[in-house]
Amino acid sequence: MNKYEILKKYFGYSQFRDGQEALIDAILSGRDALGIMPTGAGKSLCYQIPALLLPGITIVISPLISLMKDQVQTLNQAGIHAAYINSSLTENQIAKALQLAAKGTYKIIYAAPERLETYGFLEFAKQAEISMLTVDEAHCISQWGQDFRPSYLKIVRFLQQLKRRPIVSAFTATATERVREDIVCVLGLEQPKLLVTGFDRRNLYFAVETVKQKDRFVLDYIKSHPEESGIIYCSTRKNVDALFEKMQDLAIPSARYHAGMGQEERRQSQEDFVYDRRPVMAATNAFGMGIDKSNVRYVIHYNMPQSLENYYQEAGRAGRDGDAAECILLYSPQDVMINQFLIENKEQNPEFTEEELAAVREKDAERLRIMNYYCLSTSCLRAYILNYFGEHNRGDCQNCSNCRKEFEETDVTAQAEKIISCVKELRGRYGINVAAGTLAGDGRAKLREYGMNGYSSFGSLAEMGEQRIKRVINQMLVEGYLTVTPDKYALLKLTDKSDEIIQGAGKVVIREVKGETSSYLQKPASSVSRRKSDILNSRGLELFDRLRGLRSEIAKREGMPPYIIFSDKTLVDMCVRLPFTREEMLEVNGVGEHKFNKYGEPFLEELRAYTGEKREKMFFGEMEEAESKAGNPLKYTRMKKGKADFFISAKQAEQFPYAEKYLAPELAVKLNELRDPDAVKKTSGAEIIRRSQAMGLSEEKLEDGLRCKTVTEKGKEAGLFLGIRISQKGTEYQDVYYDRNAQGMVVAWFVQ
Ligand code: ADP
Ligand code: MG
Repeated sequence: MNKYEILKKYFGYSQFRDGQEALIDAILSGRDALGIMPTGAGKSLCYQIPALLLPGITIVISPLISLMKDQVQTLNQAGIHAAYINSSLTENQIAKALQLAAKGTYKIIYAAPERLETYGFLEFAKQAEISMLTVDEAHCISQWGQDFRPSYLKIVRFLQQLKRRPIVSAFTATATERVREDIVCVLGLEQPKLLVTGFDRRNLYFAVETVKQKDRFVLDYIKSHPEESGIIYCSTRKNVDALFEKMQDLAIPSARYHAGMGQEERRQSQEDFVYDRRPVMAATNAFGMGIDKSNVRYVIHYNMPQSLENYYQEAGRAGRDGDAAECILLYSPQDVMINQFLIENKEQNPEFTEEELAAVREKDAERLRIMNYYCLSTSCLRAYILNYFGEHNRGDCQNCSNCRKEFEETDVTAQAEKIISCVKELRGRYGINVAAGTLAGDGRAKLREYGMNGYSSFGSLAEMGEQRIKRVINQMLVEGYLTVTPDKYALLKLTDKSDEIIQGAGKVVIREVKGETSSYLQKPASSVSRRKSDILNSRGLELFDRLRGLRSEIAKREGMPPYIIFSDKTLVDMCVRLPFTREEMLEVNGVGEHKFNKYGEPFLEELRAYTGEKREKMFFGEMEEAESKAGNPLKYTRMKKGKADFFISAKQAEQFPYAEKYLAPELAVKLNELRDPDAVKKTSGAEIIRRSQAMGLSEEKLEDGLRCKTVTEKGKEAGLFLGIRISQKGTEYQDVYYDRNAQGMVVAWFVQ
């Protein structure tokens, strides 16, 4: 088998993603490799496919037990023999697994770094034929990374003890130069193939929201996204517990996770989340590394994280399946303090000298500052992130809260000059709050106590107000006209660049939001990949729900997380393509032979039953469009070209079976039965709804994040009305019906 056949047969994909092929080829040619790709890009395949093609065993080092379990389950599901060896197994189980491994039962073995130096494992590794050693989450080896794990250093010693040096490959999502160098040096990679792919995750929507009542925001958000899976990251255990309690009170199926809980409790929590029994998770950053749950639709940060590296990694757990997902950071300036505290009390490598410790702390403070600027930025958030990771991006992504807000620009160079005078006058002994208060001429006791009211800059920007002064100062910090000391005091200082302002060579412009509306409900208008509700029409969504129900049943029976059976994306693609045979099913994105053999039939059955084996369009727009949105290469289209758009003759129209009421899709079915099927394309419920909306008869609004259909006055006159329907899950919702009059109108639209 070659790599393409393996990709199709075991993983069910027909194309490699960016970067995968180059890495696989390099490894197969015997070269070391370092792959730097963002979370969700598909790093696992880059070592799993070579592992299957190389003659011996591949050992994968991975930092977390949960990660290993998930990956091994996925592999076993795909029909690949893999195992993990870590402390979640008993000594007996480990001995057994190593025995089987020695016999060559497994092509891929996952192990925790601690395991490498144990006697049993070493004995096995010395005897076995090991083709490759892969280090996943390789940034853990770097003392400069945000996630250093001393145990990763054991990998080097382990390698030295093997009788033959295997190919070494390493993967991470952390892109900074320093970490990259560390990985190459510490692991001793030999002329590795280095591959860095784009870091952009176009399906993720980024937002920063400054909200007063964070709980309200979070709870409203969860309620308006029912049935969706999400993670809420808090910076402290206390916050996690408090939020968790509130979610429990509201009967939200939720779980929590932090290091203060017992091991068993954590395991249970994580499992409940992964298996979608409790799809909402409140957690500290202890949760998540290696959680490959692909259908996480949102990640909300209740507090600002300590670095942009952390943020992008945590937020990146949303939308791994490539479908649209949202990453929202709730900002409050106090978070900076909390983080400073956490950084100062962070556990450090005990082998560090005082000097090294100071260097690490300074680096941490700088990372925090950069994170803070992200929250204050008024330009494209995506561009900010990508530029930080060294990828040039021109911004204007139209899929972040800043791109979707309307800003007004104000030249504040004159004010900036006054700020610089003030900082001079304060002689760098105070932070932003005192400086802004002084400039605003605030009368609070503390300022008087410091004697600020005696300074010439006291009140020099009184007309601006303290909040706006802070905005200008922040902008100046971002542009380097001012700086703050890298310690918890964050004292405001001048820089080499400050003079440019005084000399008239620099310019400071702030952007302020026109009309302070929260942006998170203004959904991206044209994001690249969309939610299933944007791809599938109502028939399609109903089918999706059925397929999902079937998946749950199977998942329960097999004790597997649902997304390991088939991802949401795969189910959407089934609804678009409507496979009725094995061959057709194998064309579906994410259905490989092995999975088909295990689960294909019941899904085919459900698809046949739902459609009565009639081809029916269950998506909006054109086939190709829907396919590509569902993540599929444009391999073929089933829709025949060359037919005319839907129409009927006056004679055919007379045959229309009028009834008391029809939903739009029912109307479409009846209309389609009248047409000449060889010459004319079908119409659809979606088309009828679209026309109704275009004529101002009905509307679809987003209310509290829920899609909500309504009929206008004009629509009521025409005979449209709302009726209650009950969904598969037993919840009520409103849908638009057409009475006899309205049916006549719709029929007339299509008569030619
Ligand atoms: P990473 O380790 O880079 O964060 P994963 O290896 O966990 O990402 O992959 C993320 C998701 O992308 C998985 O669900 C995986 O099955 C899917 N994936 C990987 N490669 C492809 C591909 N070539 N085509 C489609 N989906 C893919
Ligand atoms: Mg991974």
